[in-house]
Amino acid sequence: MKKLILWDIDGTLIVSGRAGIHSLERAFEKLHGRKPDFSQLDVFGRTDKWIAQQVLAHHDLPANPENVHAYLEAYLTVLHEEVRARPGRLLPGILELLETLHHRPDTAQGLLTGNLQRGARIKLEHYKVWHYFAFGAFGDDSPIRNELGPHALRRAKERHAFEFAPERTFVIGDTPHDIECGKIIGAKTIGVATGKYSVPDLLAHQPTAAFTDFADPAAFLRVIDGA
Ligand SMILES: [Mg+2]
Repeated sequence: MKKLILWDIDGTLIVSGRAGIHSLERAFEKLHGRKPDFSQLDVFGRTDKWIAQQVLAHHDLPANPENVHAYLEAYLTVLHEEVRARPGRLLPGILELLETLHHRPDTAQGLLTGNLQRGARIKLEHYKVWHYFAFGAFGDDSPIRNELGPHALRRAKERHAFEFAPERTFVIGDTPHDIECGKIIGAKTIGVATGKYSVPDLLAHQPTAAFTDFADPAAFLRVIDGA
């Protein structure tokens, strides 16, 4: 039976030296002529659209579709520069895992991320791993992260002409939001503490497994093969 692996991006595949946050700040300043205040904002594991709506509302600007669109377009323009300028990297073991899974006939992998598709591409092309992902669910699909799972399952089915069983689907991410969004579609979940959350933080949300990092790809593969 085929397995489906759905990857989060930030804090899971890569760290980007906070290129995303810096881009949101610069884009806001460019459009509205003042520095935004992100101190009250929890961006980890959220979608770009949701974040844009929160930032606008927090600064007493209408979070209507026009303003959100303008903000995210400006964000994507700045993101190109920021991703190149900031010191980011692929996280431990990721390249080996992506490559291994890519060559396994029983496994398909895609993205399940709050990034806009174009933002995901900017980040992952920079780190030379975009070509591993033929499909995904993105922040374009919904501002609500918990609504992204069904989009990922549908695109996996379209791409592979195969209906992946939720119990053979694994959602991989660095935040409780990733775990929650996997559980909602009945998927298995793997947490990784390479973002803001520790292994105990992640385990509190009862994922199938949680790792400090993926430096030992064999340990990750044991989880997906044991299920
Ligand atoms: Mg993340």
